[in-house]
Amino acid sequence: MSKKDNDSSSEIKQMSTLLLSGATMLADSCPDCKVPLFKKNENTFCPKCGRKAVYVSSDDEIREIEHAYSFSETRGMLQDILTGKLNFIAQKLAECEDYEEMKIILQIMDLLLNLTIKITRIK
Ligand SMILES: [Zn+2]
Repeated sequence: MSKKDNDSSSEIKQMSTLLLSGATMLADSCPDCKVPLFKKNENTFCPKCGRKAVYVSSDDEIREIEHAYSFSETRGMLQDILTGKLNFIAQKLAECEDYEEMKIILQIMDLLLNLTIKITRIK
């Protein structure tokens, strides 16, 4: 059996798993992988590359969506970093017994929290 046969049989296996899980196979296919797109819980996606599919009608719309997606990745990354720092600094606050140091920690916490709120607000 060649490599290609192996690939397509695992794809078929994956697709049947999706169908069994309640997903629907669509008539459209992924522009990159050429495999049929699936729809589950209002999400349309490619079972091969795992990317979400979005239907667009103009180039402007494509650019808009690409922009929104690239920002949502950045936002996710920033949120992870901020959460990590907040955990770190919360630990410092718990251990801290010096008022001056405590004040600095609280200021940093305030900045981190404000930034977290701001990020979630950006569309
Ligand atoms: Zn794909």
